[in-house]
Amino acid sequence: MSDISSLENLRTFFNSGNTQSYAFRKEQLNRLKSSILKHEQDLYDALYTDLKKSPEEVWVTETGMVISELNSAIKKLSKWMKPKRVSTNLLNLPSRSRILSEPLGVVLIIAPWNYPFQLLINPLIGAIAAGNCVVLKPSEFAPATDAVMKKIIEETFPKEYILYVQGDGAAVIPEMMNNFTFDHVFYTGSTAVGKIIYKMAADKLTPVTLELGGKSPCVVESDANIKVAARRIAMTKFSNAGQMCVAPDYVLVHESVKEKFIGSMKESIENFFSSTPEESYNYGKIINAKQFDRLNNYLQQGKVAHGGRTDKEKLFIEPTLLTDVSMNADVMKDEIFGPILPIFSFNEKEEALKIIQQHPNPLSFYVYTSNSTKESDWLKAVPAGGSCVNNSSWHLTNHNLPFGGRGFSGIGNYHGHFSFDTFSHKKAVMKTPTWFDPNIKYPPFKGKLNLFKKVIR
Ligand code: NAD
Repeated sequence: MSDISSLENLRTFFNSGNTQSYAFRKEQLNRLKSSILKHEQDLYDALYTDLKKSPEEVWVTETGMVISELNSAIKKLSKWMKPKRVSTNLLNLPSRSRILSEPLGVVLIIAPWNYPFQLLINPLIGAIAAGNCVVLKPSEFAPATDAVMKKIIEETFPKEYILYVQGDGAAVIPEMMNNFTFDHVFYTGSTAVGKIIYKMAADKLTPVTLELGGKSPCVVESDANIKVAARRIAMTKFSNAGQMCVAPDYVLVHESVKEKFIGSMKESIENFFSSTPEESYNYGKIINAKQFDRLNNYLQQGKVAHGGRTDKEKLFIEPTLLTDVSMNADVMKDEIFGPILPIFSFNEKEEALKIIQQHPNPLSFYVYTSNSTKESDWLKAVPAGGSCVNNSSWHLTNHNLPFGGRGFSGIGNYHGHFSFDTFSHKKAVMKTPTWFDPNIKYPPFKGKLNLFKKVIR
């Protein structure tokens, strides 16, 4: 990005009011959908190149998820856009009150590389639905997908409406944010970069949504259905080779079922990915050598209970279970974001909680139990962005649920109508008739205190 005047073109386009009407927004959503479907095969090819994802995995976690979000937005847009009538308090009667959803203006959406398509386009849907102009900044680390997305966006939208900006985030994003005032920044990525974005936004009082990462714990209680728990944990931990923000980062299993759980995990891993996962249709690869090296170091930080094989050439790390891990090891300090799962056992809930509390406010928290009291106790005990009971990660695929973190795992949320709300300003409007204009509301006020106490309470 070297031409800041192209950002000013978005401001001019937004100020023209063209993006405001229902017809315009709906047309853009439909155009986006057609373009994605036209390039469906290109996206399969690109996501295979970048991350070795199968078409089935791409549909469930990338393209299909986006199409489903688009279908819902197209269907519900007129409802979302309707002003919301609210009641008026006694003091203001006979005024009438309503809430208008206004577009924010020109917004910046920044995405990471792990679900490079879905994490850029899903927020875009909310931003278009809410009537904004958008600058899209994809990750530079999924170049094949980046190239297809550029084609989709530039074939579909004029640059003064949706601008696609490629390049090194550390250079391009500060250049844009320091030279132009965005009306909102929607960022998905690491907590470390999230803090940089937050600081730059604060300088211009730009509101932000931060969708960050962290260590999402997974508790398996003694009364859990162990076989099902292991299948669901193995599936979500090793999908996309563990490079998923809501993947279970580590497991805390009740001591009484630890051996059974580890046995079931091994069985599930073999069933899903065979004994040679490097050749499996269902198993992905690590994004690049830098991430491979980071993950490879973790393999030495515990006892390998399963897996452990690697191939740097193929960017392959086997689905790996680690036991006997020290809490001071890097693998328990950093977000793992790869196919390595440390497993700890506990006898008392407090022991497990103490471990979880070392990384407060995770993006997700998962508990496996068949006891509803334990379920609610656990949900209360661990503040998190979102949770699943007897499941992991799938909550993010239901667009009727808000998706986002809290504290260190993020600010704000999106998906479905929550996306529309994120990219809208809620404007309070009160309309007061002129036929009723009592003197009580005007000075002199002396002697009116008792009456005020009756009206305002
Ligand atoms: P990242 O933070 O390195 O990069 C994300 C984006 O920020 C990229 O577009 C990049 O170009 C840009 N960027 C990088 N350095 C920058 C800088 N100095 N200044 C400004 N912008 C910069 O993240 P990543 O490695 O691409 O993704 C992995 C992280 O993202 C993990 O922590 C993961 O948990 C998190 N994540 C969160 C979610 C979520 O929905 N909460 C989803 C996916 C990934």
